[in-house]
Amino acid sequence: MARLEIIKIGHPTLARKSVRIEKVDDEIRRLARDMVETMHAAPGLGLSAPQVNVSRRLITVDLSIGEKQEEIIVLINPEILSREGKVVREEGCLSVPEIFEKVTRPQKVVIKGQDLDGREHVLEAQDMLARVFCHEVDHLDGKLFVDFLSPLKRKLIRKKFIKKDEPNEP
Ligand SMILES: [Zn+2]
Repeated sequence: MARLEIIKIGHPTLARKSVRIEKVDDEIRRLARDMVETMHAAPGLGLSAPQVNVSRRLITVDLSIGEKQEEIIVLINPEILSREGKVVREEGCLSVPEIFEKVTRPQKVVIKGQDLDGREHVLEAQDMLARVFCHEVDHLDGKLFVDFLSPLKRKLIRKKFIKKDEPNEP
């Protein structure tokens, strides 16, 4: 297992749409294992492949942050099937360190995705788990939580992280 580097806001991979995984092979299984280790070490509740600079549709989630093995969820090609309700809560991101802002997310989602054996699962998630799923799936579509904030707030946050010579500066 290996810890991977987590890229930060301003890196082009974070703004890119990730590619669907057609075959769950050993390479994908190793990526998932490394992502779980990286997520635990960070520590964070969730991680998406683009955050370790891999544009593939894979997310890992663990609300127990390494306390309970059975709470680790790895989803390949995750897709949110339905959203219900609204909850406003502060949210952060390992790719946008030390920034926490209120974001509206559904209270409940139904999500489908494959496990590391390629089997498809449909999960129902509420509250924090629903929030983390939405956050991580957004990463696969090149979206960060700061994209939901006001243009002024977004600009201030980007300014804090993105150096002037980088092309992503708005
Ligand atoms: Zn994030």
